[in-house]
Amino acid sequence: MIQIQRTIYTLLISVTVTTSAFSQDYFLKNYEPFNSEIPSPESFLGYGIGEQHTRHDQIVAYFSKLAEISDRASIAVYGETHEHRKLIMLTVSIPSNLKNLDQLKEQHLRFSNPNDSPTNYDQVPIFVQLGYSVHGNEPSSSEAAMLTAYTLVASNNEAIIKYLKNAVVFVDPTINPDGRDRHTQWANQFKSNNLVSDGLDAEHNETWPRGRTNHYWFDLNRDWLLAVNPESKGKLKWYHQWYPNVVTDFHEMGTNSNYFFEPMKPIGSHDPLMPKENYEDLNDLFAPYYANALDNIGSFYYTKESFDGTYPGYGSSYPDLQGGLALLFEQASSRGHLQDTPYGKISFAFTIRNQYVSSMATIKAAVENKSVLRKYQQDFFKSAVNKIPKTEFAAYEFGDNYDKNRNKAFIDELLIHKIKVYKNDTKYIVPLKQPQKRMVQTMFETYTKYRDSVFYDASAWSVANFFNMPYKGLKSVKLGKEITSTKNIVENYKVLPSDYAYIMDWDDYYASAALYYIQSKGIVVASAFKPFSVATSKGKKDFNYGAVMIPVSKQKKSSKEVYEIVKKAQEKFNVPVYDVDSGFSIEGIDLGSNNFRSLTKPKVALLIGEGVSSYEAGEVWHLLDIRIPMPVTKIQMRSFRRASLAKYNTLVMVTGSYNQLDSLQRKRIIQWVSNGNTLITIAGASKWVIDKKLVKEKLTKKEKDKSAEKTVKRLPYVSSPENRGKERVGGVILKVDLDLTHPLGFGYHTDEIPVYKNNLVFLAPSKSSYSTVAKYSRNPHIDGFISNKNLNDYIKPSASLIVSPVGRGRVIMFADNPNFRGSWYGTNRLFLNALFFGNKISVPKESN
Ligand SMILES: [Zn+2]
Repeated sequence: MIQIQRTIYTLLISVTVTTSAFSQDYFLKNYEPFNSEIPSPESFLGYGIGEQHTRHDQIVAYFSKLAEISDRASIAVYGETHEHRKLIMLTVSIPSNLKNLDQLKEQHLRFSNPNDSPTNYDQVPIFVQLGYSVHGNEPSSSEAAMLTAYTLVASNNEAIIKYLKNAVVFVDPTINPDGRDRHTQWANQFKSNNLVSDGLDAEHNETWPRGRTNHYWFDLNRDWLLAVNPESKGKLKWYHQWYPNVVTDFHEMGTNSNYFFEPMKPIGSHDPLMPKENYEDLNDLFAPYYANALDNIGSFYYTKESFDGTYPGYGSSYPDLQGGLALLFEQASSRGHLQDTPYGKISFAFTIRNQYVSSMATIKAAVENKSVLRKYQQDFFKSAVNKIPKTEFAAYEFGDNYDKNRNKAFIDELLIHKIKVYKNDTKYIVPLKQPQKRMVQTMFETYTKYRDSVFYDASAWSVANFFNMPYKGLKSVKLGKEITSTKNIVENYKVLPSDYAYIMDWDDYYASAALYYIQSKGIVVASAFKPFSVATSKGKKDFNYGAVMIPVSKQKKSSKEVYEIVKKAQEKFNVPVYDVDSGFSIEGIDLGSNNFRSLTKPKVALLIGEGVSSYEAGEVWHLLDIRIPMPVTKIQMRSFRRASLAKYNTLVMVTGSYNQLDSLQRKRIIQWVSNGNTLITIAGASKWVIDKKLVKEKLTKKEKDKSAEKTVKRLPYVSSPENRGKERVGGVILKVDLDLTHPLGFGYHTDEIPVYKNNLVFLAPSKSSYSTVAKYSRNPHIDGFISNKNLNDYIKPSASLIVSPVGRGRVIMFADNPNFRGSWYGTNRLFLNALFFGNKISVPKESN
């Protein structure tokens, strides 16, 4: 039955597309003969590769089958996604290598140990890691992964046997299974029997949020550095056990392009920390292999003109910082099974074949350049522990005195990258002289000068700033005790029962999580709008703005029940909580002061759907769902009309077009705000509320540009992308001046903090004296590329965070993104303050 259908199918296709005959030969004939006892993907799945999109569970089943029946392969699960899909790695080599894998691994790892100096470069098999489909809606490569695995496991071709003797190949068929399955389901459900190549067909146009990202709509190809998601955490753990010499990262791009392989854009935009040999020598060594392989099948391609490996969190850049050679591939997407292009039709099978051919060429290139790659990795790690020049820092010290959980999260971030961290008397110390020196630099160093201005992504990634972590460089270093785990790093005084009150510091990152937990148990709480000092059973304690007070006698529960809830909150989130038995303060406000304001539990809705930035929406969802944890209602744009806003006291809008919100809907929103509720807008949504005149604020206008009246300067046409790139703000870290007495500034101790900007939203400071909560500092530039024009004309005069009163409510406008990539622990607090204290902000009316 299947066979008959297949034949009809092949006939149908070959009428329209001559380049793709959907049979195994189309892919595999160069590697005959094949062991007939090993099922091909086609015989296992019941359809030919390219005819359907293959679900992740089918890929896992196929790989498991290969490992089960062949002694050339073994399979391991290295993690699990948010949606509980398995992350797998198939290890393939000749049986004798697999049997000795532990021993080979030991020999291999000697080359990344800077204190060891093995010279048997050619005698240890090369370790190659083939990674596929980090972007779920770039599906060709996972299909190619099945063909590659099959070829390696089943082919008895001389070339393959040679590869397997000389290499251990690790195949990760789907880096992002949750996203892949979203797209797979889409493409399959809209596929017609007569393939429709019209780009307008539903098959080629996925719905929001699309399959590129993972469950929380994070781009996993940015997450290697930040390690927020389980996919990346699992991968990094695997990575630092194996340190492969070559790593691939397969992608898809616009339908009308030709294939891309490295080298990328020339050196001007590559990571300044990378040895130049990586870009200059190794890429040139590999490129001819891809050129030959693609020439042989008549495929067109290009190199050197686009993409950059500057941001260290890509699958094609992170391994470069680990002594490996990471390689980016980009295939024009058929997005669906067949699509029209100016050069005829592009079929799914065609896209898969290019990825397959490049996979095989990678193994060939790695095997034939084994010694070079091994020597390179050895030199890479040896150079990391070279004597540090006097002009450079010997170490960084860091640590926040008020927020242990933020310290812990930052140390976790360092440890996952195998960065060595020590603790002396007061601070944490990270020496530069260590195998992961370049990762240390990545975490702490900032860059302000670049030879190129067109970045594919963020140009700032000093992660210490993401965490608002106080740090400084040291010229000499006293190490102290090494920190290998953060398990007991956060130690708090254990709260005792009280019949009077409990007070929780607001300075800790997880204070808002504990607060929400306490509120959700029906406990009435108040927050200090001024600082105070009070006697606790632990002695005198100073509390900062925002400290949360739980008055025991005002609860509807017994003091025992209240204690159990408070104690549970402390245990769950490991936050600083104290018990007090008197309301009389040593300094500052007493516990019965009107400057304690009772808090309302946030009931949050988030607008999502077509036109909304899924990244920014996902960051909000992730923060509230995972870190707080708090339910947030995700209202789709198409349901907004019938949504009763009265159920919520806080509405979050991130960057989006919001075309679907007509004047009637906008009126509804603003009516709801003026009833006493809070609208929080991020980045583009802040511009939207101003453009639509929902608030009486303004965008920053440039000083009248006199040069505009002069004759426009002629420029070479070819330079236009470069010049336009300069005016983007691709991702830059800026310093703002924060009002620490404003509820949105509660819990901070320094009035200068870093923020992340990757947009062109410039808010003019408010006309009200108390409304501009954060304004860019006089010299705001910390890290990343920004043009002088943007810096001087737009950033410097602008506000970063404004609260605008509307009736009894308010709109809280962020110009920047406080939740960027789930890793801005430093500015998450601003957003959480807006959520927990927003409803308590009143802006005094001024007489003017
Ligand atoms: Zn991609």
